[in-house]
Amino acid sequence: MKNAIHYTILPKDLAGHLFEVTLTVEAPSSDGQLFALPAWIPGSYMIREFARNIVQIRAESNGRKVVLTKLDKHSWQAAPCGGPLQLHYQVYAWDLSVRAAHLDQTHGFFNGTSVFLQVLGQESAKHVVDILPPAGEVGKKWRVATALPELKARRYGFGSYVAADYDELIDHPVELGTIQLASFKAHGVQHDVVFTGRVPNLDLARVTADLQKICEAQIALFEPTTKRAPMQRYVFMSMVTGDGYGGLEHRASTALMCARDELPVKGQAGLSEGYRNFLGLCSHEYFHTWNVKRIKPAAFAPYDLRKETYTPLLWVFEGFTSYYDDLMLVRTGLIDQAAYFKAIAKTVNQVLRGSGRQKQSVAESSFDAWVKYYRQDENTPNAIVSYYAKGSLVALALDLTIRHETQGKKSLDHVMRALWATYGRDFYSAKGGRGVTDAELEALIEKVSGLKLKRTLDGWVRGTKDLPLATLLAPFGIDVADGAKQTKPGLGVRTTRDGNDCKLASVYEGQAAHRAGLSGGDLLAALDGVRVTAGNLDKLLERYRVGDVVTLHAFRRDELMSFTVKLLADDVPKWELKAEGKQATQIRSRKAWLG
Ligand code: ZN
Repeated sequence: MKNAIHYTILPKDLAGHLFEVTLTVEAPSSDGQLFALPAWIPGSYMIREFARNIVQIRAESNGRKVVLTKLDKHSWQAAPCGGPLQLHYQVYAWDLSVRAAHLDQTHGFFNGTSVFLQVLGQESAKHVVDILPPAGEVGKKWRVATALPELKARRYGFGSYVAADYDELIDHPVELGTIQLASFKAHGVQHDVVFTGRVPNLDLARVTADLQKICEAQIALFEPTTKRAPMQRYVFMSMVTGDGYGGLEHRASTALMCARDELPVKGQAGLSEGYRNFLGLCSHEYFHTWNVKRIKPAAFAPYDLRKETYTPLLWVFEGFTSYYDDLMLVRTGLIDQAAYFKAIAKTVNQVLRGSGRQKQSVAESSFDAWVKYYRQDENTPNAIVSYYAKGSLVALALDLTIRHETQGKKSLDHVMRALWATYGRDFYSAKGGRGVTDAELEALIEKVSGLKLKRTLDGWVRGTKDLPLATLLAPFGIDVADGAKQTKPGLGVRTTRDGNDCKLASVYEGQAAHRAGLSGGDLLAALDGVRVTAGNLDKLLERYRVGDVVTLHAFRRDELMSFTVKLLADDVPKWELKAEGKQATQIRSRKAWLG
């Protein structure tokens, strides 16, 4: 292919976790070709400096060495030379997550952002990748899972794959290994489900049947008339480990990590909590196929992968996606309404738990994702609000408002469809698309709903007052019971296990432990002289009443400290949602909303 950018990638040293990459540029810049590796991966808003994993890099042209100068932590420049210019480098791959690259004897995984240097100025050329098998027996057993189109390869085989440009190349992760595979069609489009890792007796038929429901419902949500999916083929690829969790969205696939015991065993009935979470994760990442991969914030079109790309809109792109992930499970009947209301209550309780929600708005949380949400520490609940959790509640509040005020004629679904038609549908087409700004988004919501919502939204999105959810749920016959009015004493802390010890992960501002001087990181030793262990703090506290004064011993670093703690009423929020409204309009509006 003429003037294409050509890579080969070889899992070279499985024990040493090294991929070997060769990059060939047919027509390098006459001023000296520039190369760079992204500093972050779209969908995960943190600077990760993937170039730190490049070991040994050299350049040559027609068998002669070319001087390669390092310009900064992720860029290089080759001395001017005729073509073709070839780069050889190795990438250390030992990050077991969906965000980078990982390689050992059990499997290989890579995102283009971790392994493929960008050829500056030639990003819009075709990019071809030869994926080579590792040497030996492993290479004969492994297969290749990716949504990248095959150029000269059998589907799931080693060989040549092709992307229209660099942006497309790095949006198609690749999984290598012995795989369990099943397929289904969703409104006529091929969907593949791939698992790597040891999962005996996996009920693949059940997983595919459930995913098919979710995918068809989402396609129909955005394209109710044509039922046209936005991609030609889609791949769910899951790496299964003992305790994995995570997902990253891409335009035609998603890379997931899940825990083995989340997945259904053949013959297993009922919906386990773990499997429900797995389906919720799949639903979430699949919804991103529209919301963020094609409908994008203006700041992401295009991405600047060399530095932080700030947007105040993650509350829409992550929050609305979080709202719809569970909503799709209830609309398809995979969970019932009681389970759905439980999930909403859990999110509400999570948001209400920390005082951070009174200090940071969801717009600010979005903007600062790079240094706050993605870099959480012991002070996080006192300092930030999650644009996922509160963003999903803003979506809920907006949906309920539109449905109620328009007597059910309009809903957030109409808003999503209008966003799709205006910004998403043509994003990757020849026409090209652009991202949406916050002003455009708010204007679109008003136009679609026919309601004056600007001021209301401004308060929800740029303000820090709690959302009026109880009021908004009432017309739907849903009662909010706050079980927090209780007399149980609490310390006002979040704990984690540290060996067999109980460690304070966070100390909530203004509550008992904070007032007594305890700090995140303190290791609890004893309560009134009785040893505190990883599992017994709640039991020990049960013997006390609100207002009692206790002595807590704790280690800070290696120093034993003593604290006098006045126990306060445990103020953990405990919302419960009960859909008990029996009026015909209430039942009708719940049905229109939840299916
Ligand atoms: Zn997401």
